[in-house]
Amino acid sequence: MKPSLARYFLIAFLAALTLIASAGLMLYHGTTDAERHSRDRAPIYAPQLLANQIAESTRQWARATKAIAQSPLALRILKSADASERRELMATLASLQPELGEIQLITSEQAKGQTPIPSALGAQQKHMIEKARTASNQGAALRAETLSLTLSEPVRDADGGIAGFVLVVRNLAEVRALFATTPLIDGYAELQQVNGVSDTLLKRGNEQLKFSGSPLAITLEGTPWRLVMWRKPVLTGLAADLHRAYLGVGGALIVLLALCLWLAYRLANRMLQDDLTIFTKLFSDVTHERLRKRYPIELRELQNGYQVMYQLAKMIVNKHQRVVSSAGIDHLSQVSNRRSFESKQHEVFARVNEGWAHSLLILDIDDFKRVNDTYGHDAGDQLIVQFGKLLKEHLRSSDFVARLGGDEFCVIFPNTPLKKAEELAQRLRANMPSRLELQPNVLHHLSWSGGLSEYSRQDISENAALARADQALLDAKRAGRSRTEVKAA
Ligand code: GH3
Ligand code: MG
Repeated sequence: MKPSLARYFLIAFLAALTLIASAGLMLYHGTTDAERHSRDRAPIYAPQLLANQIAESTRQWARATKAIAQSPLALRILKSADASERRELMATLASLQPELGEIQLITSEQAKGQTPIPSALGAQQKHMIEKARTASNQGAALRAETLSLTLSEPVRDADGGIAGFVLVVRNLAEVRALFATTPLIDGYAELQQVNGVSDTLLKRGNEQLKFSGSPLAITLEGTPWRLVMWRKPVLTGLAADLHRAYLGVGGALIVLLALCLWLAYRLANRMLQDDLTIFTKLFSDVTHERLRKRYPIELRELQNGYQVMYQLAKMIVNKHQRVVSSAGIDHLSQVSNRRSFESKQHEVFARVNEGWAHSLLILDIDDFKRVNDTYGHDAGDQLIVQFGKLLKEHLRSSDFVARLGGDEFCVIFPNTPLKKAEELAQRLRANMPSRLELQPNVLHHLSWSGGLSEYSRQDISENAALARADQALLDAKRAGRSRTEVKAA
């Protein structure tokens, strides 16, 4: 199949498209991954900020609880025996710290009978978390809505003894909201309760990261909690290199693309140049009136144009040869052609009967085929051209020189008997140069064989003398070439 520029460029286009797509993808991955990674990392102080916020709001509640416990109202309520007075005083007490929510006052005696509160009552200030677990969920999942913190504070009487306790139960909605909304880290965080074992109260982020490395733990001062978090690992080593590799490979692909396009251009250019050279050869052959059977045009796009040109060239060459041939001149050697030889011979043979003697010499170049084979057809042509020219130069103007075909020439010596013709043939051989320059720096040793005969009155055909000369030529070739043999009538 002939190569075609269209197919060729389609392949180059598809290759370019693939390369551009791959390079684009790689560059996208290389840049966006790296960018996303650095953008997603919240500042390192963010978790500390959250921890401070949670601890501070807890401390505020503790301070408010303490303020209630130190209020004289609290002692009065504990000491009061009248239930309605207690309710009234409780309402006044609650209005002192309305943001605290539910407030309870219990006497020391009441506190002793309760669980788990009694364990919290011995210390001056203790915090306790009540965690509700759902029975329906195998008790595993934390129901954050029920997460609450109970703060307790002793109420002291005038001599410093403990008269009872203020209990404040806080729903931890504020802590939950803070935990959920504060910009934290690009990792995983837990709010844990520390009372012997670590219990997870709240969690946030991708839990898988919990298994990827050591966490950062921040203890929340004044609370029973700590904030623990696992950061997304920083891209280092191979992973970081991978992004650099993406960029590198993307860049390399672009260079490769440029190289591909350059090669495509070079190849197309070369094919066009080659085909143009062949077109030039075709034109050159037309001027030499000699066409080859075909010219190897490579590109499919040029085929139609070539076919038209070849037909035109053939018409020009044929026409020219017809013109030259009708003029009786051999187009290559510029001596007479076979057709004018035959009419000359006819004319000469007719005069034999009138008593005139005429001779003829056939000449054939020795080893002509070797010239074609060694130096090419053009050099062979040159030899024919130069040989015809030499014959005309070294013979008398009355002698008739013709090319019969190939490397075979014939000379008719009109009004010349065989003896005289032998002399002329010898002179010719002596005068012809022994070397010819067929092409620049291509020297050829010229050698030819001859067969000489005469037209005879006894001959029934005008070709009989030609046949004898041919026989003599054959004898000369057999005898070793470069000589002239004679065969009389
Ligand atoms: P020998 O000494 O026996 O004559 O050997 P040779 O090699 O000369 O053989 P021959 O005379 O048979 O060769 C003729 C060759 O000439 C055959 C043909 O290929 C070649 N030929 C015929 N016409 C042309 C022509 O116009 N130009 C060229 N270059 N070659 C031609
Ligand atoms: Mg020959």
